[in-house]
Amino acid sequence: MGKTMNPWDRPAPEREGLPSAWSLFPEELAALGCPGSALETFRRLHRPWTWKDQAPVLGPVILPWLEGVADLRLPRIVERQPSSDGSTKLALELGDGKRIEAVHMPRKVRNPRVTYCLSSQVGCAMGCTFCATGSMSILRNLQPGEILGQVLTLMADLGPNRGHELTLVFMGMGEPLHNLDHLHRAIRLLCHPAGLGLGKGRITVSTAGLVSGIEKLAAMNPRPNLALSLNATTDEARSRTMPLNRVWNLARLRQALDVWGLRRGEKFTFEYVLIAGENDTEADAERLSAWLGDLRRGHNVNVIPMNEHDASPFRQPDENRVQQFSDWLKVCGCFVTVRRSRGRDVQGACGQLVKGK
Ligand code: SAH
Ligand code: SF4
Repeated sequence: MGKTMNPWDRPAPEREGLPSAWSLFPEELAALGCPGSALETFRRLHRPWTWKDQAPVLGPVILPWLEGVADLRLPRIVERQPSSDGSTKLALELGDGKRIEAVHMPRKVRNPRVTYCLSSQVGCAMGCTFCATGSMSILRNLQPGEILGQVLTLMADLGPNRGHELTLVFMGMGEPLHNLDHLHRAIRLLCHPAGLGLGKGRITVSTAGLVSGIEKLAAMNPRPNLALSLNATTDEARSRTMPLNRVWNLARLRQALDVWGLRRGEKFTFEYVLIAGENDTEADAERLSAWLGDLRRGHNVNVIPMNEHDASPFRQPDENRVQQFSDWLKVCGCFVTVRRSRGRDVQGACGQLVKGK
């Protein structure tokens, strides 16, 4: 087998049951009997800018050894849809043929930065009625190596060349806190100094409000940023569109944020999908602000006009209402941004990452 062959091109039936090479820490590579420096092997695996022909350069001893003890396949890009705003929606195929989606979003600023919107599950079990992913229900969790593999595959193909230019948001398919152990292992690998070495502040995990997961994540190290999808301001309305609210209601959710214990430099993000005639009144803005309480200041409310899709009857409010709603929030003392979803013209915007096979 050629040294520079893409890992994902290798035949794979015998890979079943082997750990993913992309989910192993240096000490685990060593424990498996790495015939060389385990740290250097980890470095070569996790730094795509050292790769050749989109595969790590492991050498004639390490590569055959690693192929014998681990699965080297990475998610494979099978479809790409560039958008006029510079972002690209990608469909990625996993080892078992299932598909997930990720979005590559470069930002043109003085120092180049790229944000990846990543998936944590194939589908989602939470069943939010405005969300395209929610309508497909859950097929399975992503493995840590698959979560990490999304990042490496995107980097090798579309850049950036270095970890410090990267920002990651888990806002693609799935509820990340419903797959917390795998997610957190992937985060630890992403932050490993011999790998991409991402700072924890560069990673944002978005949740629909899985309180048990929020409380568990609060105590984990490294601890990423938390984004919370609020999307409604009464328990009645929220339970209707986000079934999870029947388990942990708005009051309980707010309590979980107090328990989080914000540290210096940490901020929450609040996402609010604005849906015409559903959650877009002045009273909603006032209730949202009241619910935030002392979190009004310093934490951003991201108003996201609903992206319409076939699986939901909900509609996007008109532009005036979007503006008016954010003005109402501002009058109440909130920090507001309106998120013009990127990749919208290719159905790559949030909540539209539906696929499945
Ligand atoms: N499950 C997590 C992360 C994935 S969803 C969560 O719910 O937070 C990412 C974001 O997309 C969430 O803020 C969600 O509210 C939003 N979203 C879902 N469907 C949408 C739609 N149709 N239009 C706009 N945003 C949507
Ligand atoms: Fe799942 Fe998030 Fe979609 Fe709700 S909004 S169904 S939690 S992906």
